[in-house]
Amino acid sequence: MSEEKSLNFIEDIIEEDIKNGKYKSIVTRFPPEPNGYLHIGHAKAICLNFGLTKKYPGYTNLRFDDTNPVTEETEYVDSIKADIKWLGFEWKNERYTSDYFEQLYQLAVKLIEKGLAYVDDSTPDEIAEGKGTPTKAGIATPFRERSIEENLRLFKEMRDGKYKDGEKVLRAKVDMANPNMQMRDPLLYRIKHAHHHRTEDTWCIYPMYDFAHGQSDSIENITHSICTLEFVPHRPLYDWLIEKLEIFPSHQYEFARLNLTYTVMSKRKLLQLVNEKIVSGWDDPRMPTISAFRRRGYTPESIRNFCERVGVQKRENLIDLSLLEFFIREDLNKKALRRMAVLDPVKLVLTNYPEGKTEEMETENNPEDINASHRTIPFSRELWIEKEDFMEEPPKKFFRLGPGRAVRLKSAYIIQCTGFKKDDAGNIIEIQAEYLPESKSGHDNSGLKVKGTIHWLSIPHAKTAEIKLYNRLFKIEDPANAEGDFKKYINPDSLQVIPHAFIEPSLSTAKVGEYFQFIRKGYFCLDKDSSTDKLVFNRTVTLKDTWAKEKDK
Ligand code: ATP
Ligand code: MG
Repeated sequence: MSEEKSLNFIEDIIEEDIKNGKYKSIVTRFPPEPNGYLHIGHAKAICLNFGLTKKYPGYTNLRFDDTNPVTEETEYVDSIKADIKWLGFEWKNERYTSDYFEQLYQLAVKLIEKGLAYVDDSTPDEIAEGKGTPTKAGIATPFRERSIEENLRLFKEMRDGKYKDGEKVLRAKVDMANPNMQMRDPLLYRIKHAHHHRTEDTWCIYPMYDFAHGQSDSIENITHSICTLEFVPHRPLYDWLIEKLEIFPSHQYEFARLNLTYTVMSKRKLLQLVNEKIVSGWDDPRMPTISAFRRRGYTPESIRNFCERVGVQKRENLIDLSLLEFFIREDLNKKALRRMAVLDPVKLVLTNYPEGKTEEMETENNPEDINASHRTIPFSRELWIEKEDFMEEPPKKFFRLGPGRAVRLKSAYIIQCTGFKKDDAGNIIEIQAEYLPESKSGHDNSGLKVKGTIHWLSIPHAKTAEIKLYNRLFKIEDPANAEGDFKKYINPDSLQVIPHAFIEPSLSTAKVGEYFQFIRKGYFCLDKDSSTDKLVFNRTVTLKDTWAKEKDK
C-alpha cells in the first residue's frame, strides 16, 4: 500500500496556481548572501526551492545576494556552489544581485520620477528618531518635499561619488504613519565607498536588501520567492515596490527557519566560533555547516531525507538533533562497509594457537547489501580487543569476556578465557584464552552456543590510525536563546582524539568519501586531512542514540 504524502502549504499554492492557469511553469531561487558557509538551515531552504522545481515544471536560479560590499568573499561563493551540488541539486542560472546594479539604479530613478522616492540628508540617528514607534506615527523630514528634479540630480551625484558615506540616503516615499514600520519611508540606497568583490570600484552607492531583493526576483521572473518568517513584515513593501514599478509580479512566501537542538545556526555566530578558534574552521566536523557534515561522513541523501521529514512549517520550532542522526544511521546502515577497528586496545593471546601461523578469515562487507561481497582479514595468535570487552569480575548479564567465559571472535573462533596479567598499577595488560579449532565461523561443528561476539585485530597485521570522536558542540538544547553569551555553553568534551587506534589492514587504502561502519563502534569516514603516513578517521555517528542515555546519568 503506498502512502500518499500530503502537500506542504507552498505546494498547495503552486498546484492551485498551475491548475487555474496562473503559471504553466514556476521559477524559484536560492539567494544566499556570500558571507559565510551554508549550514543545515540553508539545506532546508535549498531542498525546498530546488525540490519544488524538480516536482513541478520550471527551474531554480542560484542568486548570490551580494549587495553588501564589505563582508562578501569569493571563498564563500565557491563553497556555496560546491555544497549545493553535493546535496544533489542543479541551478539553471548563476546570478549575482550585483549583475543588476545598473538595472536597479534605473528602477530607483523610475521611482524618483514617479515622485515615490527622495534623497534624505538626515543623519542615521535622525532617521531612526523620525520613524517613530509602532504606537507613535513617524515624523516626515523636510527633505521629503524635495522636487523630482532635485532628487534626480542628488541621486546622480550620490552615484558619482560626490558625497561621503552616510551623508545622504535614498528613501521610498510611502507612509510615515503606517502601522508597519517597514513602510515608513524605508531606505533604498546608501553610500558606501567600498571595494566590491565583483563590481570592484564601479559603485559607491549600494541598494538595501528590501530594494534589491524583490526587484531582482522580478528581473529573473521568479514566480514563488520563498524566504523565512522574519520577512513577513517586509512583504507589503515587496508588493508596493513591484506594483509602483510596474514590473513582473513575483510573490513572496514565508516559512519557518530550521532550528536544531545543541546547535547555533546564525552565520554571525558560526563565524565567531571560527575566528575565535573554538573550532578548527567552517568545516570542523562539529559545526552545523554542510561542509562539516560532508567531512564528518554524512551523506547527501540523509540530509535531504531529514529536510523532507522536517517539512515546511509556518511556525518556528526546534528540531531534535537526534532526528538528523536517525537519518544518517538509516542511510549508512545500507551503505557503509563493515570493518574492524579497536579503539581502546588490550592484548589477547590465544595460548593454544600455533606461533607464527596466520589464517585469512572470511567476513562480509555489509550484511545489508547483497552486492557488497566478502573480504578476508588476517588472524593470528596475538590479537587486539577492546578493553571494555573484558571484565575481571563480570556481572551475570555481561556477555563478553571474563575469567572462564567464552565468546565468539567475529568471523573467527569461539574462545574461552583462561587467565590475565596486570601491571604494578593494577591495569589489565594481557588476557589469555584458548580457541576451539572446530568452531571456525562458517565451518562450526563445535555444537557450542555463546551469547557474545566481539571484534578483534591481529597484532602483527593491524595498522594504526588517529580517530576523532565527536559529541554535541553545546551543552544545552538551545544555546542561541539562552541567557548570556552563547559561547559559555560550549561542551568542553565535544572532541575526543584517540591518537593510536588500530584498524584492519584493508582500511589503509580507505578514501575520502567512502563510508564505513567500524563494527560495534559506530560509523566512520576518512578525514580529508589524512595522509598515507597518518590516517585520520572521523566518527560520523554512534550506532545507537547513546546521547539520550548519557543525559539521564
Ligand atoms: P543566517 O541568519 O544564518 O546568517 P541568512 O538568512 O542571513 O542566515 P542567507 O544567506 O541570507 O542567510 O540565506 C539564504 C537563504 O537561506 C534565505 O532564503 C534564508 O531565508 C534561508 N535560510 C537561512 N537560514 C535558514 C534556516 N535556519 N532555515 C531555513 N532557511 C534558512
Ligand atoms: Mg541574510
